[in-house]
Amino acid sequence: MQSEVSHLARLLREHQPALALTGAGLSTESGIPDFRTPETGLYARYDPIEYLSVWALQARPQVFWEFFAEHYGLLETAQPNRGHLALAQLEAAGYLTAVVTQNIDGLHQKAGARRVLEVHGHLRTVRCSGCPAHYPLALALEQVQVGSLPTCPNCGRRLRPNVVLFGDMMPPAFTEASSLVRESALLLVVGSSLAVSPVNCLAWEAPRLAIINWEMTAADSAADLVLRGKGGESLRALVEELEIP
Ligand code: NAD
Repeated sequence: MQSEVSHLARLLREHQPALALTGAGLSTESGIPDFRTPETGLYARYDPIEYLSVWALQARPQVFWEFFAEHYGLLETAQPNRGHLALAQLEAAGYLTAVVTQNIDGLHQKAGARRVLEVHGHLRTVRCSGCPAHYPLALALEQVQVGSLPTCPNCGRRLRPNVVLFGDMMPPAFTEASSLVRESALLLVVGSSLAVSPVNCLAWEAPRLAIINWEMTAADSAADLVLRGKGGESLRALVEELEIP
């Protein structure tokens, strides 16, 4: 691993500005299951279209919200791991201009990252489908807990999570991320299978690509460097190699 870490450090020194793109694999070391790791990933047990899509929310809202509360309700208490902390250090030291993340867990911000583009939304709030109101996720989860469908205290219409579900439009953060990738000299992907569209297209738009991932990804063949390792351990070693205090 050390030779790949040295190579990655050289790429970051020589190709600026650089950007990170993270996925669910970065947060597995914080105890949050990803989607596609065999056996532990959520896909091993659930069909995402049946539980995490706009159709599921419309057709079976009770099932949708119970699933959502069970799998995402506890993420508020999750803590960033050394991978999140290392990316915040790389940003503070000027090696990264921003972190683009597919994760909805808010752990980059908890680790101190300053510019985070959440291209799949976040869990901090829910929004009303009938009026402009936003509320903390906790309000919706409390309603689910007593067996009710989350509804807006202001207008009585249904609430929905502020995350991008299968079938949703992409948010403005994705357009911003796309521009940033094209302006960057290097994209560092960490903990993503690069199987989810359209975010995976960003890997192909980057002039140079480095990937840290436990398993093969869909863009390995296009990468200048592939480091097959754990996100936390590899990023910690990268920070040491770059001698960031
Ligand atoms: P994914 O599940 O498709 O891929 C995760 C990848 O990370 C896998 O290839 C796996 O081998 C790798 N991995 C797992 N643990 C690792 C580790 N410790 N170090 C290095 N690599 C590791 O995830 P994805 O590409 O982000 O796409 C799936 C979707 O999952 C995203 O849209 C995201 O919003 C959603 N999701 C988010 C969270 C979260 O917010 N933490 C959790 C589950 C799913």
